Amino acid sequence: MKKQILSLAIVSTLSLGAIASPIYTNHANAESISNLEKQKQEALNKRSGLNSEIEEKKSQITEIQSKQDTVRNEISALDKSVTDTENRIAEKNAQIDQTTAEIKQLEVEIAELIERIEKRNELLKEKARSMQESGGTVSYMDVLLGAQSFSDFIDRVNAVTTIVQADKGILEQHQKDKDDLEKKQEEVKTKLANLQSMKRDLEDLKVQLKGKIARQKELMKELEHEEHKMHGEINDIAEQQKILASQAAAIEKAIALEKKRQAEIAAERERQAKLARERAAAAAKQKNSGSSASTSTATVAEVSAPPVSNGMFMWPARGYVSSNTGSRWGAYHFGIDIASGGTVPIVAAADGVVSQSYTSSSYGEVIFITHSIDGQIYTTVYAHMRSGSRQVGNGAVVSKGQRIGTMGSTGQSTGQHLHFELHKGPWTADKRNYVNPIPYLR
Ligand SMILES: [Zn+2]
Repeated sequence: MKKQILSLAIVSTLSLGAIASPIYTNHANAESISNLEKQKQEALNKRSGLNSEIEEKKSQITEIQSKQDTVRNEISALDKSVTDTENRIAEKNAQIDQTTAEIKQLEVEIAELIERIEKRNELLKEKARSMQESGGTVSYMDVLLGAQSFSDFIDRVNAVTTIVQADKGILEQHQKDKDDLEKKQEEVKTKLANLQSMKRDLEDLKVQLKGKIARQKELMKELEHEEHKMHGEINDIAEQQKILASQAAAIEKAIALEKKRQAEIAAERERQAKLARERAAAAAKQKNSGSSASTSTATVAEVSAPPVSNGMFMWPARGYVSSNTGSRWGAYHFGIDIASGGTVPIVAAADGVVSQSYTSSSYGEVIFITHSIDGQIYTTVYAHMRSGSRQVGNGAVVSKGQRIGTMGSTGQSTGQHLHFELHKGPWTADKRNYVNPIPYLR
């Protein structure tokens, strides 16, 4: 397996060399190298920019957390108010119970008093009746007229008056007691009404407080969601940094490959020149050099002939395009989806260096390949590969048509397909270098 990868690496070195057109000059090569260096620098700059983005997000999180503290304090203050209000309601309930009991007690007392008054009235009526039967007022007169002396008469008058006054006094006292009780009952009823109105106010307050708590909790939920989102964004940026870092390494490797290729081209040119000189010398000696020429042509073809399709990129998998680049479900689809059933091999669309081979939460099992073609960096992305099917790791050199994995449906995917992206330049999270791959695929 290792040996095979090594030999593929050699093949790819040769085929990377094969991409250059034969009329490639040294000047153009130097330019392409400096262009590549520029692109690598761009990837590194982008990476340091991400660091300050992470710092900014972290300070935003701190801000969100302090907002959460404020809301939390407000909620606990409101909770305390609710408890206070509930205690006051309980207090009012106790007072209402007590007052209701008082009213009931007064009602009992009033009923008893009324009964006593009625009994007394009955008694007085009885007395009056018995007096009338035995002579009534006449009896009183008899009592008075039967006086033996004036002082006896005064005594008798006083006695009669006392009896009448006593009866009257009792009646009046009864009436007063009854009035007092009724007045007290009236007062207690007013008190009860006040208590009930206070209780209603407290219950209203409690409802208001609960409403405030619900709103604060809603706000808290929003803040927590925001914080969670922010952490997710930091993770995304960290993932981008990882991709950009390994991308820079891959670009460096591609540059090294291109330099090696140029050295090989120069050596080959030197060899051809030497051969031509030898041929010229041989031709000068014998006037026949046909067979020698055909041998040299075969040697050149072996070095420079492209072993793959004519296009800059080949199709990375068999299948049909189930989704094109463009707006889809309210978002822009950066990529094309190639779908097919069965075990579908995924191949490198061109020679290159694997800049990233890993499992992403969104892309699933994914491979990024950096290509250096005519002094231009391209990046291809192969996403949602079958679990465990990735055949190449970070830094691997791959050749066009080399199998790198199997079509799958890992990550944020619905159904088996290959999500394929092409970037003219390094991959970036904002995908500003993205190009529609269709015109490039041949
Ligand atoms: Zn897609």
